[in-house]
Amino acid sequence: MFALENLVRRNIWNLTPYSCARDEFKGRAASVFIDANENPYGTLNRYPDPLQEELKAKIAAVKGVPSECIFLGNGSDEAIDLVYRIFCEPRQDNVVAIAPTYGMYGVCADINDVEYRAVLLNDDFSLDADRLLTAVDERTKVIWLCSPNNPTGNALQREAIERVLTEFQGIVVVDEAYADFSDARPFRLDLDRFPNLIVLNTFSKLWASAAIRLGMAFASKEIIALYNKVKYPYNVNILTQRQAMKVLDDLRHIDLWRATLLSERAAILPAVAELPICKAVYPTDANFFLARMTDADCIYHYLVDRGIIVRNRSRVQLCGNCLRITIGTPQENNALLGALRQYRP
Ligand SMILES: *Cc1c(COP(=O)(O)O)cnc(C)c1O
Repeated sequence: MFALENLVRRNIWNLTPYSCARDEFKGRAASVFIDANENPYGTLNRYPDPLQEELKAKIAAVKGVPSECIFLGNGSDEAIDLVYRIFCEPRQDNVVAIAPTYGMYGVCADINDVEYRAVLLNDDFSLDADRLLTAVDERTKVIWLCSPNNPTGNALQREAIERVLTEFQGIVVVDEAYADFSDARPFRLDLDRFPNLIVLNTFSKLWASAAIRLGMAFASKEIIALYNKVKYPYNVNILTQRQAMKVLDDLRHIDLWRATLLSERAAILPAVAELPICKAVYPTDANFFLARMTDADCIYHYLVDRGIIVRNRSRVQLCGNCLRITIGTPQENNALLGALRQYRP
């Protein structure tokens, strides 16, 4: 049986959170605000809504998740770090993650002094749920999954993720930063079925807003209440909240961008695959792909010399000689292809 209370660190379960002026006063109409020691002059003089309710209402409508099941943070990075601070007792608890995957899960484990157990994906980058679950012991609080996965690009099989969710009694985080580029059903729509699920989304990828630093976590309202307890009171500033609302008010661009990026993706994969210096291009459900080259280091430096920067992943497990390439504009993609065609080993 899943029991949230048994997973949460005692100090967090018992925590009395900071109560800010904007929390205490809520609801009734008021015009004189002399409760928060702000300067009454200026345009950015007021503290922002600590729970970002107006913004969450818009996100709720777009994502199909109730407002009380949404946490917003300073990038997904905050949503990742808080998982450790809520659930993992330093030097006692551990987490399990797939490998290779996004680096922040491991960095945040190190910062929080929590053991990080990496379990390799299969050679085709699919998930072996049995192998992952054998790494779990009684001190495992969290399993990290990323789907579509970074840097491999593939969506993990839904049945394997569901097995992890049902057989593991701790928290399962499914990072769906790239779900907008995938045909797979997003896990955020299944929060009701999995009380131990946290889904991460971000404004940084399809929503073209990496600069404003806004990440989302979707989970049961009990888990979201824990996030709200632990986060900094005003963790999402007002400029970010306003800009995010602007983005949500005009989603037409975003649909056009998605269509363009998907058609560019469909064109560039086979074009790279047929280059003599490319050994394999891996199927992708994201806005990037992994290509195994004859000599990734040399090709990487050759591209840098031509002002083209890709991500060299050749020192990552299972990714020997691999470059990770983001889908750019048609011009950028052509520049890459042109340069790769001219490469002479
Ligand atoms: C890019 C990315 C994110 C986004 O992080 P932000 O802090 O929201 O910019 C999250 N998860 C993965 C796997 C990513 O690749």
